[in-house]
Amino acid sequence: MLLAQCHCGQISVTATHKPSTVTECNCSICGRFGARWAYYKQIEVTVKTTGSETHTYRWGDEDIDFHHCPNCGCMTHYTGTGKQSEQDRVAINTRMCNPQDMIDITVRHFDGADTWQYLD
Ligand SMILES: [Zn+2]
Repeated sequence: MLLAQCHCGQISVTATHKPSTVTECNCSICGRFGARWAYYKQIEVTVKTTGSETHTYRWGDEDIDFHHCPNCGCMTHYTGTGKQSEQDRVAINTRMCNPQDMIDITVRHFDGADTWQYLD
């Protein structure tokens, strides 16, 4: 199992299994967030909130929503908005996980800024 939690604990995201790799993307938004993504299908992921719902941010082609805790501001995951390729994808920001749980997982580098290919 994988558990990701925002800083204040209002948002918890769990997945059925740990990822084999996580992805750092250098695009304009992932770079700013400093996110490390683990990718899942929607059915593999459960999001729980105590208090209010997540805040979301959309940009560009608007095919994903970035979810933020309304209290502490941490960006916990993104979900597809129903368009195209990202439709069934949930990406968990593993920066919200216990670092000890992630220590043995390979980090891959994705060139989302330019070539849209993995660099490693
Ligand atoms: Zn929070």
